[in-house]
Amino acid sequence: MRKLAAGNWKMNGLKADGVALAGEIAQRAKAEKLGCDILICPPAPLLFPVGAVLAGSPVALGAQNCHANEKGAHTGEVAAPMLTDAGCSYVILGHSERRADNGESDAVVRAKTVAAHKAGLIAIVCIGETLQERDAGETLAVVSRQLAGSLPDGLDAKGLVIAYEPVWAIGTGRTPTIVQVAEVHAHIRQTLKGRVADSDAVRILYGGSVKPSNAQELMNVPNVDGALVGGASLVAADFWAIAQACS
Ligand code: PEP
Repeated sequence: MRKLAAGNWKMNGLKADGVALAGEIAQRAKAEKLGCDILICPPAPLLFPVGAVLAGSPVALGAQNCHANEKGAHTGEVAAPMLTDAGCSYVILGHSERRADNGESDAVVRAKTVAAHKAGLIAIVCIGETLQERDAGETLAVVSRQLAGSLPDGLDAKGLVIAYEPVWAIGTGRTPTIVQVAEVHAHIRQTLKGRVADSDAVRILYGGSVKPSNAQELMNVPNVDGALVGGASLVAADFWAIAQACS
């Protein structure tokens, strides 16, 4: 399966930073054709300038969130059709930081996923356990529960990407062992059967402290179909090295 290297810039960078970083990634992508898909998800105000820089390159544009409604009285929110209009083809949904900071439940993530599909976006639905849940031996149950609650019916592999991101591995420099990653990804693949048509073709990304030094090992794990990269996606050379590991 063609892997996906996705960069989540989170709430980082002003216009000049984003344009420079995206420009470097676009340049590398034009010069070296990789055998993976490459995606950049900047903060919402940077979607248009970054999209302009990526135009004509093989690098796709994505957003970090959308609202469940198509339009209306939701001050400060961004609707999925606005993201499509800005040139996005992907949207990250249910990131653990949004689940924690904004109280996003599985039901909310599910409603947002429906909205994203309606707008023609590919939803990257994030799931993953906390350290407390991992220590309590609840990881697989948590992941099952999040999948059951966050995924609407009628999905197919073209419109869906899953990102497994252990909360305790995000931005901490800690990663699960290869055996732990393999176990959870196999479990996700199994759980998707029956939930999603052509479930074997759904890309399941690993996210959480992916860096150039561990990317290849992680990408070699069965059912790991790419990476969702936070901190390392803010450094062009590091993100590119991870993309190379995905290809
Ligand atoms: C993320 O937030 O999606 C992420 C994986 O962050 P980091 O790579 O910085 O751990």
